[in-house]
Amino acid sequence: MTFAKLQIIEPIQRALAVEGYEIPTPIQTQAIPILLAGGDVLGSAQTGTGKTAAFAIPILQNLTQTTSVGGPRLIQALVLTPTRELALQIKDSFIAYGKFMKHRTVVIFGGVPQRPQQAALRAGVDILVATPGRLLDLMNQKIVDLSHIRFFVLDEADRMLDMGFINDVKKVIAVLPKRRQTMLFSATMPEEIAKLSASILINPTRIAVVPVETTIDAINQAIYFVSKKNKINLLIELLNDKRITSALVFSRTKHGANRIVKDLGLAHVDADAIHGNKSQGARQAALFKFKNKQMRVLVATDIAARGLDIDQLSHVINFDLPEVPETYIHRIGRTGRAGLEGAAISFCAEEELGLLNDIQKHIKKIIPVVKNHPYAVIYVDAPTTLTAKITVKKPAPKPMVPKNFSPHDTKSNHHHNSRKARQ
Ligand code: AMP
Repeated sequence: MTFAKLQIIEPIQRALAVEGYEIPTPIQTQAIPILLAGGDVLGSAQTGTGKTAAFAIPILQNLTQTTSVGGPRLIQALVLTPTRELALQIKDSFIAYGKFMKHRTVVIFGGVPQRPQQAALRAGVDILVATPGRLLDLMNQKIVDLSHIRFFVLDEADRMLDMGFINDVKKVIAVLPKRRQTMLFSATMPEEIAKLSASILINPTRIAVVPVETTIDAINQAIYFVSKKNKINLLIELLNDKRITSALVFSRTKHGANRIVKDLGLAHVDADAIHGNKSQGARQAALFKFKNKQMRVLVATDIAARGLDIDQLSHVINFDLPEVPETYIHRIGRTGRAGLEGAAISFCAEEELGLLNDIQKHIKKIIPVVKNHPYAVIYVDAPTTLTAKITVKKPAPKPMVPKNFSPHDTKSNHHHNSRKARQ
């Protein structure tokens, strides 16, 4: 399949070539013909499948075929998405795919001053990408007019529900013209979303693409056993390998993320962190540098990384293993996207063997262990089968040493150390 075969018009094909897209992803192959023909779509797909282009390309193309030249710009397409990061990425995608066309895309989201967004809206908009809260605010102030919408996308509907935005979403939908094309995307279908989709979609085509779970086999996964204290040294060592062109490093805590960035800085590795304690501006600046390859390493917590879409990520590094096994899949699914090769490296300290066991059971796979590295340790308790049971022992407290102590008294301590013999 090619974009030409999907009847994509020349200026969009040219823009896709600039982006390096050669073949459409499965969701694009399935959704584009239906959307070009004006049908509604109910898509079960996550970020990482190419779903943004699946709806953005037909919207751009359909807009071209119907927009009258010379008239005022009226908002004709609306994309609602739950987070600012996603909103920005979707706006960037519309701009990238439409770079040889004249449509104007504007993004609005909360948490930043309203005034510049107001000015952008006044200057005329064809495509509006928005998070629901700020959009509703602007609607209530009569700053935004949605009466000309002909294309409506509800993105990540299940997350809208999780994040408590569903009522805002419903209020926005209530003012949209009834005659329109609607596309609803949701990775899962909780009952509330199924009901909502039944009420807003007309005779939709259902499209489901393979969830991340079954595609992670394409990602090269490896475990490094390393003590907690040596994790940072191992990270610095690994980053000497220039084949790691861009690494997203996951830390369990915000404090941990800051610490990693600081220690990498001391080792002259340029890195930045994104997490909830950073301002929106600082997060965007870090993301921009990372995406534009001015910085090789981005350190993130799971919450901050949710929904981040980063092109051509070569490595995901789990500095800390996630507490929830599904999170492992979401993390490593950020590499190896859209047919690119990906690698996922996980550090595992002795305290984390239980987490590793849970992850392996969840993905039904034993992850290969890299034994040959300068900080390698051996854990006799390491889970090597999918049926392994692990009772992870906390490191034994230091024995109280009596004043007149004889080395022969420390038998139990010796035993403990031998389990962790260094290579
Ligand atoms: P999405 O699921 O929309 O967030 O897209 C995931 C990633 O795949 C983004 O980085 C896109 O730039 C990229 N992508 C989308 N479609 C294609 C394609 N046909 N070929 C190559 N990369 C693509």
